[in-house]
Amino acid sequence: ETLDKGLEKTKTTFFSKLTKAVAGKSNVDDEVLDNLEEILVSSDVGVDTTLKIIKRIEERVAVDKYLGTDELNKILREEIAGLLAENNTGNETDFVIPESKKPYVIMVVGVNGVGKTTTIGKLANQFKKAGYSVVLGAADTFRAAAIDQLQIWADRVDIPIVRQQMGSDPASVAFDTLQSAVSQNADVVIIDTAGRLHNKVNLMNELTKVKRVMQKVVDDAPHDVMLVLDGSTGQNAFEQAKQFTAATEVTSLAVTKLDGTAKGGVVIGISDQFKIPVKYIGVGEGIEDLQVFNKFEFVDSFFK
Ligand code: GDP
Repeated sequence: ETLDKGLEKTKTTFFSKLTKAVAGKSNVDDEVLDNLEEILVSSDVGVDTTLKIIKRIEERVAVDKYLGTDELNKILREEIAGLLAENNTGNETDFVIPESKKPYVIMVVGVNGVGKTTTIGKLANQFKKAGYSVVLGAADTFRAAAIDQLQIWADRVDIPIVRQQMGSDPASVAFDTLQSAVSQNADVVIIDTAGRLHNKVNLMNELTKVKRVMQKVVDDAPHDVMLVLDGSTGQNAFEQAKQFTAATEVTSLAVTKLDGTAKGGVVIGISDQFKIPVKYIGVGEGIEDLQVFNKFEFVDSFFK
């Protein structure tokens, strides 16, 4: 029920618009499809993904000849879940890490302000609650505030953090963090990195170097490169996904601030377009407001 609350705005907007779009209509015709297209685009699903969904519904309308509007919800649900299926298995509910990797190293990337630090703090808290020992690494050394904020979360969750002075080499912090984690026999390492979107080559070089240096300690690190995106920023989030996937191999997404937006459809569009699984969604500022992304629950929450 936290998920429903977190997605309240998207849910009410999406559903009420959909209801309006089919009002007085008994079957899915061109006008309904046009309205649907507009609803999906205005929910930030993205044009490409929207057109894909509309096309699939058109195909079903063509096959069935007559498609009642009361069936539209069901079909939309199936199509959206189907799109997400390509990247997300959908059954995830718990905060778990693979047992074979120890320490399991998560490198977190994303621009300032998207909720990166908060997501790391929430995630560390969940992992700790699940019984894992967690170490944080403050390798976003560009801003003193980034290091201090991460420290606050480390204190709050009561876990160790490895940090150096502002301006120090991010790769050096990452190296120290992994060494510390190995010596403590820690289960999970979460490394905060590169908060600025400088030019692509610099970003790429910095992330590549951090990875290379980490591999001197844990040879297959990082096990996950998680990009944090602000779900309320629509096209900016798409743009950031484009830039970061060009700079490094992003293996998962965390989409934040879905509680503050009616445009939760961005999750569908980004996951579809970049073929990267969404692992976590942020639905509030509190420490508990992070959820493992479950596509069935997510899609259902739109239609409840
Ligand atoms: P960073 O610069 O990317 O590290 O961003 P922060 O973690 O400092 O977060 C920026 C702001 O966004 C803070 O005020 C957070 O409380 C807020 N924030 C982060 N995640 C969420 C979320 O899921 N929902 C809401 N409403 N606010 C969030």
